[in-house]
Amino acid sequence: MKIENRGVTVWLTGLSGAGKSTITKALEEELRSRECKVEVLDGDLIRENLTKGLGFSKADRDENIRRIGFVAHLLTRNGVVVLVSAISPYHELREEVRQRIGNFFEVYVNAPLAVCEQRDVKGLYKKARSGEIKQFTGINDPYEAPLNPEVECRTDLETIEESVSKVVAKLEELGYVPELAPLGREK
Ligand code: ADP
Repeated sequence: MKIENRGVTVWLTGLSGAGKSTITKALEEELRSRECKVEVLDGDLIRENLTKGLGFSKADRDENIRRIGFVAHLLTRNGVVVLVSAISPYHELREEVRQRIGNFFEVYVNAPLAVCEQRDVKGLYKKARSGEIKQFTGINDPYEAPLNPEVECRTDLETIEESVSKVVAKLEELGYVPELAPLGREK
């Protein structure tokens, strides 16, 4: 009999450029290869659709997270592994979503601001420094790091594969995704 995954929301939080999308993509592939039911809620895409029109004030950021959390909850209770990739800078809101969803697994995608700024994947730090973008997290808007995440990925110190392996191992340990049978495990 096939062992199915349980529903869980894997919430990746961290600065822009920390590696949330990169880890999410690799994690999605890994979980799909294990036949888990997976759905991705990507912060940027969500802002173009579900939360279009919201800005970056604290109130709007909170509303953004509440709506993502609402959808994540619906999917989670239907047995989906939901991968949320969103800066989600406020501790209180992440806690609120954790309480609501229950099966909540927080991943702190952590790289020092200087590293994220040097990567500047989308050129946003440059714009924030020049004043073109206001309320940019880490530059002129707060980021509250998780106090007790299920997993922390130091993306400046570990490879993408290492980060993904850590997350998968902890998901297995907590019983959210089935462990691979020994024969299926890569050497
Ligand atoms: P975010 O989604 O958090 O804004 P991205 O995933 O878009 O960040 O960008 C992170 C960048 O850092 C990518 O260019 C990625 O290749 C690089 N990177 C280097 N090492 C890692 C790692 N261990 N995990 C994730 N990303 C990494």
